[in-house]
Formats: sequence, structure tokens, C-alpha cells
Amino acid sequence: MSEAVKLVPALCTNCGGKLTIDPQKEKAVCPYCGSEFIVEKAINNYNLNIDMGSAVDSVLDFAGKQLEESREARKEMKKAELETQRSFFKTFFKYGLIFMLLFLVVGTILVRFLPDDDSGSAGENITSEEKASKGEGKKSLKSPEYELNNGTLFVSLSLPSGSFCEIDDLYTAGCRVDSQDDFDDFECSVSADKESGIGYLVIDLFKEEGDDPFEYYIFKVNIENNEIVEIIEAKGVKDISDYAF
Ligand SMILES: [Zn+2]
Repeated sequence: MSEAVKLVPALCTNCGGKLTIDPQKEKAVCPYCGSEFIVEKAINNYNLNIDMGSAVDSVLDFAGKQLEESREARKEMKKAELETQRSFFKTFFKYGLIFMLLFLVVGTILVRFLPDDDSGSAGENITSEEKASKGEGKKSLKSPEYELNNGTLFVSLSLPSGSFCEIDDLYTAGCRVDSQDDFDDFECSVSADKESGIGYLVIDLFKEEGDDPFEYYIFKVNIENNEIVEIIEAKGVKDISDYAF
């Protein structure tokens, strides 16, 4: 056998048919189209095609990678977006909670310290505390507040807006009103007007000028040696005739 001829791939320069040819030869004839071609050109043709193919491949590869990357980027963006949303809601709930707590605290404080506009409950208040009213010391009533100090009775009333009150001269007995003012709350100080016995201070509450009182606050006190020594009863009544003096 003679030395084996090493054939190389080539493409026909005329029809592009795939060939394997002897590179040592100068010319050959294409078995597909029958045209004669220059071997070197056909080999170059093949190599160029391979290059083109790999170029196309690498372009496709690049595009694929770009696609992959943009997919990754989109995933990342979505993740970041979710994270942002989550942190927004976290913040929202955190501050929402703080606001709610603040609201509750402020609300509680307001409800606790604002004047009570419910005039109807004043009478009940005073009645419920009457048992504890004997002796000296300030009573924990919202309205009226009263205090016995050195033989003098101090009374303070916060009234519903629009209403007012007056010392009832007809029913107040054995007690002398030393001072009163209704600048903000109604306040008065009362001392004994007799040496000993029972005394009464009656305060009338009005809604409107000219109306009958809608409530009476009655303080029944014990007087000794020209001093008020005990609050026997502090009571609110709707009708003065219901009270047994
Ligand atoms: Zn050909």
C-alpha cells in the first residue's frame, strides 16, 4: 500500500456540497454539481463556514447567557421588591402598633381627666360615696368634690357646659357660706352658723335660667362648738321633696 492520503473536509465553491479531498491536489471535480474547483479555495470555504458556524454558535451562546442573566436579574429584582414590601409592612405594623398604643393611652387619659358631661350620674356618685364621707379628708369624687378642713366645708363642682348652680338659701340652714365663685368650677366654702346640731348646705343645679333645678346636692353636717365636725351625708337628689330634712 502506498502512503495513505490524508483527506480533509472541504465545500464545493460552486454548490456548497460537502467533500473530502486531497489537499495535495490543485484542482478537483465536485461529485454533486460536476464543476471543477480549486482545492485550496474549497478547503478555505469549509474553514470559513466552520468559523461562521462557531461564530453563530457563540452569538447564540452569548444570547442564551444574557437571557439567563436577565432572568436571574429579574429574579433578584423580584426578591428585592418582595423584601422592600415586607420591610414596608413591617415598618407599617410597627408604627401602627405604636400609634394604636399612643391612641389608647391618650384616650384613656382624656376619658379619665375630662369633665364628665353626664349630669345624671352626679347624684349616684355622691350617694355611692356617702358612707365614706364621715370625718375629715378629701373625698375621691369627680363632682362634686368636698373636703372638711378645720371646721370648714369646701365644695367644688364641675358642671356640664351650659348649666350653672346656686346655693339654695331656702334649704341651707345652720351653715354660713363664707365664699363662693363660679369662675371655672363652682366652688364654695361653708362654716357653721350655730353652736351645735345638724346643718344643711343645699346647692341647686340648673340647666337654664328660669328653670327649676334639675338636681340638688345636699350636704348634711354635724356642728359642734361652732365648727363643722362631720359630714353626715352628701347626696344628690332630683326632687328636693324626696329628701327628709
Ligand atoms: Zn459542486
